Amino acid sequence: MKTLQELTRPNIWNLKPYSSARDEYKGFTASVFLDANENPYNSPNNRYPDPLQQELKAGIAGLRKVLPEQIFLGNGSDEAIDLAFRAFCEPGQDNVVAIDPTYGMYQVCADVNNVEYRKVLLDESFRFSAEKLLAATDDRTKLIFLCSPNNPTGNELPRDEVEKTLKGFDGLVILDEAYNDFSGTPTMLAHLGEYPNLVVLQTFSKAWASAGIRLGMAFASPDIIALFNKIKYPYNVNLLTQKEGLNRLENCRETERWIKILIEERKVLMKDVAKLHCVGKVFPSDANFFLARVTDAVGIYNYLVSLGIIVRNRHTVALCGDCLRITVGTRAENEQLIEALKKYKTGL
Ligand SMILES: *Cc1c(COP(=O)(O)O)cnc(C)c1O
Repeated sequence: MKTLQELTRPNIWNLKPYSSARDEYKGFTASVFLDANENPYNSPNNRYPDPLQQELKAGIAGLRKVLPEQIFLGNGSDEAIDLAFRAFCEPGQDNVVAIDPTYGMYQVCADVNNVEYRKVLLDESFRFSAEKLLAATDDRTKLIFLCSPNNPTGNELPRDEVEKTLKGFDGLVILDEAYNDFSGTPTMLAHLGEYPNLVVLQTFSKAWASAGIRLGMAFASPDIIALFNKIKYPYNVNLLTQKEGLNRLENCRETERWIKILIEERKVLMKDVAKLHCVGKVFPSDANFFLARVTDAVGIYNYLVSLGIIVRNRHTVALCGDCLRITVGTRAENEQLIEALKKYKTGL
């Protein structure tokens, strides 16, 4: 790996961050806060939240077996993706490499930041080759994006190819594990010490059932996390979200139960979908969704919309011609989908 200074944009490396009132005061015994121009009424929402979310990070650190200094928390994992571009990629000069198809936000953030986005096509079974990915990099490649299990394809990327990418690349590898909880494979978090160029993304939006609170996690070396902290908005995770994050952690048994149910429902739903006349192929999934190749993605999508059932039409995505991406819902929701699809073009 290049040194972190070589990878970081010079203006970011040299940046003196904004220092908030709560940054400068870090004790725990004070009781009179006249330092931040807050309103003394309407407790507790009158106070600025902890800019570094220390309580929440302590909880996540315990659960994920990492140090609090290895955790960045943001307004969804999307914030961490954007910060990676802003910290490392010089607009108009640097580039990033990603598998294709994958999560759309990587390209959107690249475009917003005017950073060249290089796509390396997966094969017909949605597998990737570290060698092909590395061949697309050059001296100005700062980041490689991997997503495992991948969205929208649903499959996990093989661990040995991920590690080959980490070993063969001198920039940072951003491994998005948004759906890892639904796969049988352990996260890469245990390898953070081994690979200083690894950044793992996780989120409260999927298995934790909390997309509405906007809470994403990035795990990396303390040096990388310190850079993210330096350039983030001072109060990027609000008080209500920090509280609800802690509440979810306290109820992590419930999350485990949801994961079990959804994996079981995935099996049932995939089997039922595979039997339908309008379905050609159901692709294997390690996530809480799967891809199905159908006879007419646009027609079936519109038919389902007319019944108030929304799936994701991925027809225009590379390698996903005539594919719908179906999220696993409750048993009742899944049955509604199946009943609707059984009646498609069969005259009701
Ligand atoms: C849903 C999803 C996320 C979650 O993003 P948040 O901003 O945390 O809601 C991240 N990565 C991928 C690949 C996703 O599909």
